[in-house]
Amino acid sequence: MAVRAGIVVTGTEVLTGRVSDRNGPWLAEELRRLGVDVGAVLVVGDRPEDLRNALRFLADEDVVITSGGLGPTADDLTAQVVGEVQGRPSSVDPDLERQIAGIVEGLMDGRGWRADSEATAAGVRKQALVPEGATVLPPVGTAPGLVVPPAEGRDGPVVVVLPGPPSELQGMWPAALAAEPVQRALAGRSELRQETLRLWGTLESQLAVTLRQSEWPGLEVTTCLRDGELEIVTRYGPEAQPEYDRLVEAVREAHGPQLFSTGPTIDDLVASAFADRGLTVATAESCTSGLLVARLTERAGSSAWVLGGVASYANSAKEALVGVPSEMLATYGAVSTQVAAALAEGARERLGADVGVGITGIAGPGGGSAEKPVGTVHLCAVGPDGRQPRSVVLPGSRSAVRHRSVTLAMHMLRQLLLGGPPA
Ligand code: ATP
Ligand code: MG
Repeated sequence: MAVRAGIVVTGTEVLTGRVSDRNGPWLAEELRRLGVDVGAVLVVGDRPEDLRNALRFLADEDVVITSGGLGPTADDLTAQVVGEVQGRPSSVDPDLERQIAGIVEGLMDGRGWRADSEATAAGVRKQALVPEGATVLPPVGTAPGLVVPPAEGRDGPVVVVLPGPPSELQGMWPAALAAEPVQRALAGRSELRQETLRLWGTLESQLAVTLRQSEWPGLEVTTCLRDGELEIVTRYGPEAQPEYDRLVEAVREAHGPQLFSTGPTIDDLVASAFADRGLTVATAESCTSGLLVARLTERAGSSAWVLGGVASYANSAKEALVGVPSEMLATYGAVSTQVAAALAEGARERLGADVGVGITGIAGPGGGSAEKPVGTVHLCAVGPDGRQPRSVVLPGSRSAVRHRSVTLAMHMLRQLLLGGPPA
């Protein structure tokens, strides 16, 4: 039997896009791993009526998780609204009130802040309001979480109320899962698997032809094109494993040369290729000015293979920092295959790396010409196994061109180190 959940993310700052939602995706993935099917993630502002409507919309789910709105201010109203909807009136829990007061005092002392004690007490009292019969989840920050089942004799989901700050929400999640009403709601769930195939250098329409050639009972297949990579994400129960294996074979047969991974991301592949081969890398980046080296160093432990990068944006920096000859810049222009190669060689030499990467291009929106339109990017990767040059005209905004250039460079590194689909 499928156990289903809904997620309500609250906060006007999230609704308006000032803060991008990190809780919905995190909770959805945690629930998926537990075998819980997520029906919807709703984002609502800090308005009681909108929260009530969202909870009503999710009334048929087994579990509903809310994030945010547990603070001491008047716009933080999740606990009371959830209590009302579940038919459980709230009252102040004196033990909890003392506990929160202690935490707030500690925080204030630690920062050397002074506050109006009456206002603080009112905030603490508000945060200590607990719907009758709810389970209190101990605060990770200042706000406690709640597990609120429907009142006796009423139908509806168990509502889990969690704080908004992602670290607090994640810290509280194990306690939420361990709460008895949540355990009961999740009982009977079955495993839900999720696997990803990754292709480089093919179009969604080509893949659609392959997928249409058969029925795939028990598989929920979604495809997503991102920075030139095509991801096929499939969700299925354990009984559909043979179907999934058949899908992998069909994709391999039709798109074998483009299939670069049956799981790991391009970043995983490049990192383990450097680690396994004991090679080091350095970059000299013009139009991406450090985005590639930043991406390579996002991963803990990358100091074992990343030596560094040069943001050689101006011609003077290309000459002084990486040794690109000024005659080359004058003859071919900064955006040229020659300069991309010289950046790669220069980075490799100056930093003493095994592999060098150079990127130079016109990210736009200005600076293009008929000969070199906006989006023109020349890249080069050089290493012990040879040299990989690549020239492209990428579509999209300045940001899109810069990010796609970086992903392309990652694929060039993959091909240089591991082979596989041409970058
Ligand atoms: P607090 O006790 O800190 O007030 P809270 O539960 O009331 O907790 P909110 O006031 O809703 O939480 O959010 C506090 C901060 O946490 C927000 O300003 C925002 O920076 C961050 N935050 C809240 N919700 C999200 C979210 N869905 N994704 C990312 N960040 C979030
Ligand atoms: Mg808030």
